[in-house]
Amino acid sequence: MDTFETTLQEMKKMAPEEQKAVMEEKKAMCTCPTCPSYTTCAKNGNELMFCATGKSFMCIPYEKECICPTCPVAKDLGLKYSSFCTRGSEKAQRYENTLWGSKMV
Ligand code: SF4
Ligand code: SF4
Repeated sequence: MDTFETTLQEMKKMAPEEQKAVMEEKKAMCTCPTCPSYTTCAKNGNELMFCATGKSFMCIPYEKECICPTCPVAKDLGLKYSSFCTRGSEKAQRYENTLWGSKMV
């Protein structure tokens, strides 16, 4: 298991309040608001941490750039993917990769 899988396993064992607290802590570290792809719509909707929550709810239509690889959360969670706001969460992209291979984005 890699860091991401281990973290998910550890979180599953936590009580709901503890899981929420961890998510809030990571959310506060999310650097999406400084990304060129981030929009006012996403800001107004308080959309953050797409790596966990998945695609933006119609606020980020296309990618200009993705700064996820430099985000501390990416390192903490051992994320392999990026552009989560347009391509889906880490979990979803990992799943798609198992179905379609690494060429599918
Ligand atoms: S990895 Fe990307 S989506 Fe996840 S918290 Fe960091 S900036 Fe936000
Ligand atoms: S997920 Fe990546 S592309 Fe989307 S807003 Fe966050 S840093 Fe930018």
